[in-house]
Amino acid sequence: MIKELKFVCSECGAAFTPKSGVHYRDNYLNTSVADTAFICDRCIDAWHAKWQIKTATFHEKDCVMTADILLADGTDIQKIDCTPIEEEGIVVLGEDVPRFAQEELFKFYTAWDLERKKNILKECSFEAEFMRTTVTCDTFGGERCEQIAFRVSRKGELETEKPLPDYVKEQVLEQYGIYEDRAEIEEFMRKKQDE
Ligand SMILES: [Zn+2]
Repeated sequence: MIKELKFVCSECGAAFTPKSGVHYRDNYLNTSVADTAFICDRCIDAWHAKWQIKTATFHEKDCVMTADILLADGTDIQKIDCTPIEEEGIVVLGEDVPRFAQEELFKFYTAWDLERKKNILKECSFEAEFMRTTVTCDTFGGERCEQIAFRVSRKGELETEKPLPDYVKEQVLEQYGIYEDRAEIEEFMRKKQDE
């Protein structure tokens, strides 16, 4: 049966003729095209105009990420649930946001993520030679230490041949503990095999 459908915007109630393509709210419960919630171009334009992001900051607590977003029109959105999707380069919010704004949010997210990780070690390796152990490591922020000789004092503090920032020292000490434990286990296994 052929029927005619008049487009009526589900947001503003105006009748409209789509210019190119037609926007609608996806709803899997719909069984007929007549049930579809269409959205007119004017409402879409207004939606795009609204989502001009001025700034965005992020928080992560108990594995839940939220964002505080300030829009150019002054709208202040606090603690909205969000999910960064690295593969797509977007941040998805708990509400409908245009794609370009999702991409813009991802830029803010990347900057924030780098800032929180910048002092964290990305790589850390040790080399043990005769009477000399060195560490090579770098942080997410791009700081790099190349083959710095060190020892662990009796007090359990890290003493290095060249001064290192405290946040690097702490992490090197922690990594060295893991490294030594592993070396001990390997040594033990070797002896076991030799027996
Ligand atoms: Zn409308």
